This record gives sequence, structure tokens and C-alpha cells, in this order.
Amino acid sequence: MRGAVRENVALAPYMHLRVGGPAEWFLEPFTEEDAALCVRVCRENDVPLRVLGGGSNILCSDGGVRGAVLHLGHHNRMVRDKLRITAGAGVTLASLMRSTKELGLAGLEKLTGIPAHVGGAVAMNAGTREGETFEFLTSLTLLEATGELVLWSKKDMKPRYRDGGLDGRIVLHATWELHEDDPNAIFQRFSESLKRRNATQPVTQRSVGCVFKNPPGDAAGRLIEAAGCKTMRNGGIEVSGVHANYFVNSGTGTCTQFVELLEEVRKRVQAQFGVSLEPEVKFWGF
Ligand SMILES: Cc1cc2nc3c(=O)[nH]c(=O)nc-3n(C[C@H](O)[C@H](O)[C@H](O)COP(=O)(O)OP(=O)(O)OC[C@H]3O[C@@H](n4cnc5c(N)ncnc54)[C@H](O)[C@@H]3O)c2cc1C
Repeated sequence: MRGAVRENVALAPYMHLRVGGPAEWFLEPFTEEDAALCVRVCRENDVPLRVLGGGSNILCSDGGVRGAVLHLGHHNRMVRDKLRITAGAGVTLASLMRSTKELGLAGLEKLTGIPAHVGGAVAMNAGTREGETFEFLTSLTLLEATGELVLWSKKDMKPRYRDGGLDGRIVLHATWELHEDDPNAIFQRFSESLKRRNATQPVTQRSVGCVFKNPPGDAAGRLIEAAGCKTMRNGGIEVSGVHANYFVNSGTGTCTQFVELLEEVRKRVQAQFGVSLEPEVKFWGF
């Protein structure tokens, strides 16, 4: 395989929250074929395989994870074809948006400020009130659990709220069809969304974004705040005073402290409002 295979690699530096122990194996394939080979070899040897994007929605156990972690950082190419843009799974949404803005292609600015890679954004159907990742997606190149490459068109996609509906498939490329607009107008919308985000979320602190999904017809942050949990603390992890659905790491936090705080907040919201909050964050190594 072309790429790197490393053993016992610390995951915390790859996680937005900066917590988590090591991965037994860390795989960084160069090409699609190399990624497919990783999937096949892990499957044939019963090695559990997880895919890591930007690490902004993963809570990794302090003890780390058994098996292999696949990182698609080398899959970072973008190709334009008229109104379409195709990006590799390892491209950050920030650089994708910068490029589409410069090309005068509009639509993706609805995702402004989401700290994701393309693969993670598709897997989670990341979005904001203005729109979601799948809105302008036209095709996906995916790896099946068998290592087989498949191409999905619009009719194959069944995204849900914060779930790309991939059922464990791995994203290699995504293609969006956008519309033309003046780069200055795109930049204007981009800046306004960023300004709103900066005013309402703890963007400069380490977190996993929203800890819980919004329950139907309500907002998890509102419920957590109303249950008196804002600024509640457990060791180095705190319920943000800016937005209660964000738990932030002061720098000394651990995964164990995060989970204890999460359970306490969930218990209090359940007791006061009878609402069972469902985590949005993905748990690794539990
Ligand atoms: C400050 C902050 C703000 C945020 N704001 C938002 C927001 O406004 N809206 C929103 O929706 N989310 C938000 N999030 C959460 C997070 O950014 C999204 O869930 C994002 O989609 C995760 O992308 P990632 O690349 O970091 O994925 P990761 O966190 O690395 O992974 C998330 C999940 O996707 C899977 N995955 C990653 N790459 C692939 C791939 N190539 N193929 C298949 N599966 C893959 C992982 O296995 C995991 O299950 C925020 C997070 C932070 C820290």
C-alpha cells in the first residue's frame, strides 16, 4: 500500500476536543485503491476499522481504540467542471468554501464555520439553520465494507438530520452542483454567517460542537440552560456559558469527565422536562 501505516498513534492531536488515547493502528492511504486495500485487509483480519475526518464530532475514550483508524488526509484534491465541484474526503470545508467563493460558485456558504472535512460533513450531513451538506450534492464515491468502490447519484442518497445515511460506507469524494454568483456577494453571505456563529458559539474553545441532537420542536441548548446546567463543570470540562449545548475543554479535561458531565446534564433535563436527549457526538472506544 502507498501511504503510511503507523502503530500506537495518539489520537488527541487529531481531535477538536484534544482528548482521547491512542489508536492501535493509524492508516493514511494515498489513493482510492490504497484506501480500498486498507478496508479489505482489516476485514480479512477481523480488525475493527474507524474513519477519522477532522475529529470535530468524535469523543474518543482516554484508553484509545482497538483496531485501525483510517485517515484520508491525502485525499485532498478539488476539481471543477463547470458548475460542479468535486472534493476529496480530506478537503476541509473551509478550503472548499474558499475555492468555490473564488470561482463564483454559490451554495456552500450555508455551511460556513463548520469545522469539518468533506468526508465527515457528508457522513454527518452537517448543516446549519440555512442548509445542509446534502442540499447540492449530486454524487458520491464510496467504499463499501467489502472494499468495493461504488458511485452514488442523487437517487441513492437518503440523508436524515445529522446523518448522511451511509450505513458505514466510507466517503472518498463528493460532488456538488452549485450556481453562479458574484464572488463579493458570496463573501458577504459567508461573512454574515460567520459573524452570527462567532456571536453565539464558543468558537475559540475546544469542543465537539453540539453534544446533543435537537429534540423535535425544541433546542437541546435551551433545555440544558433551562435545567440550570449552563457553566456546570466536571474537572477540565465545562458546559459553555456561551451556548449550553457545547461542552468545552479548558485544556486539562478528559473523556471520562466529559461523559460524566454529559450523563448528569441528560439526567437533569430528563427529570425537569421529561425529554431524553440523544447525543449527536460519536463515541469511540467505549
Ligand atoms: C466548534 C464546532 C462547531 C460545530 N458546528 C456545527 C454545525 O454548525 N453544524 C453541524 O452539523 N455540525 C457542527 N459541528 C460538528 C462537526 O463539525 C460535524 O459533525 C462535522 O460533520 C464533523 O466532521 P469531521 O470531518 O470533523 O468528522 P469527524 O468528527 O472526524 O467524524 C464524524 C463522523 O463521521 C465519520 N466520518 C469521518 N470521515 C468519514 C468518511 N470519509 N467516510 C465515512 N465516514 C466518515 C466518522 O467515522 C464519525 O462517525 C461543530 C463542531 C465544532 C467543534
